Amino acid sequence: MLKVKNIDVFYGKVQALFNVSMEVHPGEIVSVIGSNGAGKSTLLKTIMGINRPVSGSIEFLGKTISNLNVHRIVTEGIVYVPEGREIFANMTVRENLEMGAYSKKYSKSLLEEYITSAYDMFPRLKERSRQTAGTLSGGEQQMLAISRGLMSNPKIIMLDEPSLGLAPVLVDEMFEAIVKINRDRKIPVVLVEQNAYMAMSISKRTYVLEVGYIKESGDSNILMNSSEIKKAYLGG
Ligand code: ATP
Repeated sequence: MLKVKNIDVFYGKVQALFNVSMEVHPGEIVSVIGSNGAGKSTLLKTIMGINRPVSGSIEFLGKTISNLNVHRIVTEGIVYVPEGREIFANMTVRENLEMGAYSKKYSKSLLEEYITSAYDMFPRLKERSRQTAGTLSGGEQQMLAISRGLMSNPKIIMLDEPSLGLAPVLVDEMFEAIVKINRDRKIPVVLVEQNAYMAMSISKRTYVLEVGYIKESGDSNILMNSSEIKKAYLGG
């Protein structure tokens, strides 16, 4: 459903992605792993239209999107949750969720349905419904950022480092939630992660980015058993 074909991306004169191709099929969790600066965030931002590829193309559901602006790409049903939890700090948890549905003009009952589903996914958010989002813990803000993204009922969601900075117990909770989003709501997920082991464990396929190139890609189970991948990304 999402096809990135041979894209080259530059920041000024510096090339960040070289001939990168990636596909996401309906229903899949696909992970993108790689060291710091490999280009993982750049890939997501390019799919979102924040960066422009100088060559290659990006298609979503058969339509070329690499010439559309961010707003149009969001309208196509792609949601991107950036690294660093950009929530509305001065609004409450509930208001943040409502903002996620803002463009959708849902009926009151449908809005409540989506909010209930966010609270079912992360009960911690329900307890803090009236709390100002800026006072949530880092992990709770991450949960809120993802839940807000889901409020628009996207056709695909792309998560940039959702486990970053979370306490170990919350890391497990976060990965369980990602599996649930994918399984229960049938939303395909692109998962960019430094936590390669967890990302590969829950994803069907993995792409390995190294300094702007796709170094390896394939079935996550098979890649996890490759001695090269184990050595480079899974701590031996
Ligand atoms: P990390 O895991 O550290 O977030 P990443 O794999 O997501 O890394 P990117 O953030 O995509 O990597 O960065 C890829 C390369 O592009 C890096 O060399 C980075 O310094 C460079 N880069 C990223 N954003 C910009 C920018 N706005 N201007 C210039 N260079 C940039």
